[in-house]
Amino acid sequence: MKAFSRIVLMATSLLFISACGEKSETSQAQVKQQKFKWKLVTSWPKNFPGLGIAPEKFAQHVNKMSNGRLTIEVFGAGQLVPGFEVFDSVAEGTAEMGHSGAYYWKGKIPAASFFAAVPFGMNAVETNAWLHYGGGLELWQQLYKPFGIIPVAGGNSGAQFAGWFNKEINSVEDLQGLKMRIGGIGGEVMSRAGALPVNMPGGEIFPSLQSGALDASEWVGPYNDLAFGFYKAAKYYYSTAWQEPTATLEFLINEKAFNGLPSDLQEIVLVAARAVNDDMLSEYTARNSAALKTLVEEHGVEVKTFPPQVIEVLKNTTKVVIEEMAANDEQVNEVWTSYKRFYDSIKSYHEISEQAYLQNRQ
Ligand code: CA
Repeated sequence: MKAFSRIVLMATSLLFISACGEKSETSQAQVKQQKFKWKLVTSWPKNFPGLGIAPEKFAQHVNKMSNGRLTIEVFGAGQLVPGFEVFDSVAEGTAEMGHSGAYYWKGKIPAASFFAAVPFGMNAVETNAWLHYGGGLELWQQLYKPFGIIPVAGGNSGAQFAGWFNKEINSVEDLQGLKMRIGGIGGEVMSRAGALPVNMPGGEIFPSLQSGALDASEWVGPYNDLAFGFYKAAKYYYSTAWQEPTATLEFLINEKAFNGLPSDLQEIVLVAARAVNDDMLSEYTARNSAALKTLVEEHGVEVKTFPPQVIEVLKNTTKVVIEEMAANDEQVNEVWTSYKRFYDSIKSYHEISEQAYLQNRQ
């Protein structure tokens, strides 16, 4: 009898396990059949080299990895919403995702700039280390949480160029009254140094330089600047990276839309974003040097550097601007404290590792 009971018990258990298994397999199968269609809006012209290609690559990765369960349509600036309305449209859910630069939202969230570019701050490798292993990303996500947006890193430009100028910059006096397109913290620094900074999406820079509405503009670096043809509208190309030792781009994800995805698709979105973040830096590293050669050899562009006196003023002004921002805004203070602690530590380490090697290499 005992043996019989055991067999019955085992059989019942097996039936139960099998029923549960079927049930969970059925619901898993249902989840896997569900298809999602998302919109992704950007601050760049559609398919613009580097910046505009990154979200296209992201969409392709997600589509392939999810076997078509999550498809993402990418819109260039102005196609669905203007370039500077990306944040709001993701917050409102007009688009489930966006690709942009955090410093464009400094009017709404002053601390956001620190997640895009800090003048005289960390380079791309160091910034990625801070974001992913130094607590930076958590602070960034905390900052956008009240807007229902999850930000993740979406690419790095590497060190940018100081920009295109229609007059030579030989001293700080040459910056006085200079109408320049420059955003973020760098824009504020330029303003204190006497210039008249303007923030405008990339697509509007060329006509503004041509018409004289702008005397100067920074954009990205040789690869992107060649694509916009700035050499046709400005005389001098200043290389000295000060305002953006790197720019980190961002993917903005509507939190509700993200929470509505099954966990495997959530992971695909995050991993594809991380892949694109890494890929963009490789692309810019490879293409900037080739593009500079074209600008100089084929288009006769004159590459110049700011004199040390100008750099010194910009550096000191940056310190004052950031300290003021941190004193006036608790969120800036929190982000800057984390950024600076990480920067101080990595800077000393890189002095004896990367920097020492760069000085010694053949
Ligand atoms: Ca820039």
